[in-house]
Amino acid sequence: MLLKIVQVGHPVLRRVGKTLTKREILSPRIQQLIELMRETMRDAPGVGLAAPQVGESLQLTVIEDDAGRREGAAGKRLPFRVIINPKVEVIDSAAVMGLEGCLSVAGFSAQVPRARAVRVQALDHRGRPVKIEARGWQARVLQHEIDHLFGRLYIDRMDPRTFTTNENLSRHLAEASVGELEHELRLGKR
Ligand code: ZN
Repeated sequence: MLLKIVQVGHPVLRRVGKTLTKREILSPRIQQLIELMRETMRDAPGVGLAAPQVGESLQLTVIEDDAGRREGAAGKRLPFRVIINPKVEVIDSAAVMGLEGCLSVAGFSAQVPRARAVRVQALDHRGRPVKIEARGWQARVLQHEIDHLFGRLYIDRMDPRTFTTNENLSRHLAEASVGELEHELRLGKR
């Protein structure tokens, strides 16, 4: 069974999610929600899905990037994880631009600045404390998903002039990547 993913404009996407106690996390309702969120994320497909995106105003998100399953994502693998009640600490605040899309803003993408590295303290699917340190792509996915739990979307942070339909993105991708490369060369990142 798949859950319905709500689209931008639905008020649940703008609410701060409710935190969960260990007892609530272990309840059949939340355990089933986690399973359904995993299935829904894999089916979409997406690299993350937050509870508000399926209409549940809770501080719960799942992430996974299976490079073997998704073509062209080499080196970006992210194991399946459940993240509950997260607290994010920026450990490298250098802003890195990168392309993001969102299952709740279907059909669009934009360049979004994110902190290069973060440390996340949260609870896992059994309510146990976990600490995750992530850089680059993984740090971006974590920041995007955790934003959802606080009522924020990538469109709040994007460079609005890069906002594009995915159709136009693929049409102009070759052009864009040359532009990005030149930009990075100018910044001396390569
Ligand atoms: Zn999203």
